[in-house]
Amino acid sequence: MNEVVFPAPVAASVSAETDRRVPPPPIGLLAELTHRCPLRCTYCSNPLELDARSLELDTETWKRVFTEAAELGVIHIHLSGGEPTARKDIVELTRHAAEVGLYTNLITSGIGVSPDKLDALHAAGLDHIQLSLQGADAAITEAVGGYKGGFERKEAFAKEVVARGFPLTLNAVIHRTNIHQVPDMIDKAVAFGAKRLEIAHTQYYGWALKNRAQLMPARQDVDRTILEVEEARARLKGLLVIDAVFPDYYARYPKTCNGGWGQRTLSVTPAGLALPCHAAQTIAHLDFWSVRDHSIADIWASSPAFEAYRGTDWMPEPCRSCERKAVDFGGCRCQALALTGKAENTDPACIKSPLHLTLGEIAAREASAEVVPGAAVYRAFSFGA
Ligand code: SF4
Ligand code: SF4
Repeated sequence: MNEVVFPAPVAASVSAETDRRVPPPPIGLLAELTHRCPLRCTYCSNPLELDARSLELDTETWKRVFTEAAELGVIHIHLSGGEPTARKDIVELTRHAAEVGLYTNLITSGIGVSPDKLDALHAAGLDHIQLSLQGADAAITEAVGGYKGGFERKEAFAKEVVARGFPLTLNAVIHRTNIHQVPDMIDKAVAFGAKRLEIAHTQYYGWALKNRAQLMPARQDVDRTILEVEEARARLKGLLVIDAVFPDYYARYPKTCNGGWGQRTLSVTPAGLALPCHAAQTIAHLDFWSVRDHSIADIWASSPAFEAYRGTDWMPEPCRSCERKAVDFGGCRCQALALTGKAENTDPACIKSPLHLTLGEIAAREASAEVVPGAAVYRAFSFGA
């Protein structure tokens, strides 16, 4: 799955009747329709334990979820995966999402999506397509995604997308193997006819965390990409919008993860678990409700997993007394768990975390080690067996 960039949070309100914090409605739903995917990216943010095809929600349940989300106030839906077009009902699901008034974004690898399928998606009301880019040429694309011929197929797919008038965004996840290609990827985005390019440095969850030692870029290479992006933004103003997400491991402050935990968005896994963020299942002690048993409105208002880190009341120090606590909400809970052993801890991406220096040391050590051929673990889940 590609990176999804969500907007900043708005303040929750306090209900006078109940004296409890009532979040505003979510604006975005990430629908992970399947974990099946023809690609095998070493940075994939899907969980290590992928949902089998037999566990996936059926068509009618997804449609109900979309209807409930729209009724609650969700504005846009990201039809994602895995590769969402691996679902035979992708056109029907897209049509339903459009009919209930959602802005529909298909997040795809572009592999296996025929021109006829694109026509059908267009007729169904699909609004936008986000295509993943693993590299700027065939060799890097194949080395990262583990799929022969991937680059040529993406190039052909992008042409078909633009020919049908879809707005196209390219999402390029950046790491040590492809960081030297950032300028070439910017050129490709222009050549492909994309309107937007996301230069998204790898976030280390799922397969990316497992492969971190093979993916971590050097500090000087990250700094160079910042300059490359700035130069390209100025040069391509009016032609291409470039969003950039830089690595937490070299940051001073953490990101506002998903606009704040349970504040703006929710994700639903292929098997139907509703999550405050797509990596939240790594926090094993949380109680995630399923859309099979609960409505989206119930989940948003009352799911224990959403309540756990919503707002700022749960925070320990140093976040509790920090002036930025309503800006970044203490950063990422999943990263705090993965790197400190406790999800409640301050995200070590923050300079106020006692473990911040350790994070920098990990990054420097891994970035300076040699890439070992064959050491990265590819995910393999084409058919969801
Ligand atoms: S394997 Fe690659 S294309 Fe497939 S879901 Fe993961 S990141 Fe996306
Ligand atoms: S201490 Fe907590 S709230 Fe303050 S900047 Fe760091 S992570 Fe954000």
